[in-house]
Amino acid sequence: MMLGRLVILALIFIIVGIVLVTYLLPLLRRPEIIECPKCHSRMVWTPIGTRSENFMWRCLACNSTWLKSYSEDSYKKWKEYSMIVVVRDAVLNYIRSHHSDAAKRMPEKFEWKYEKKMVEGETLHLFTHTDKGIWTVSIRRLPEHDFNVRVEYRPRGEITIPERILWVGIFDNLGVIVELEYYHVH
Ligand SMILES: [Zn+2]
Repeated sequence: MMLGRLVILALIFIIVGIVLVTYLLPLLRRPEIIECPKCHSRMVWTPIGTRSENFMWRCLACNSTWLKSYSEDSYKKWKEYSMIVVVRDAVLNYIRSHHSDAAKRMPEKFEWKYEKKMVEGETLHLFTHTDKGIWTVSIRRLPEHDFNVRVEYRPRGEITIPERILWVGIFDNLGVIVELEYYHVH
């Protein structure tokens, strides 16, 4: 009698245990968000192509650094979707803080249209924002894990006053931005 009850109790514990493990564990194992532990910005970088990749991290917003190896799954997702966005936004921030004439023409918030193009066997990431003017950011991956970035602005419908901004530069694998060209044609 006693033994029978114990067996039933043990069975209940096992069933409850299995249910908890199958339903609750996946909730706890949600993909990690790769972000700055200090300011929570997602504009973070790791030295791609070096031994410190997915280990040494630097926040491009507040410049703090930390050491962490994110799970393979999270890191793969970051590299596939977030990396290009980080390059784009870091370059736009650079332009905003170095060229007030360009900053004046930037919207408060960009609404990007994204397109992936193949040009001469290379992948080109193309972002376009259109309002009073058209901003385009094209990012091409170079060997050695650097990125060639080209940012262009042209006003819409002002055919008589051609005004164009062009910025060309490199975003390197360590997250350093090097400006190569800047034109503002009035
Ligand atoms: Zn930060």
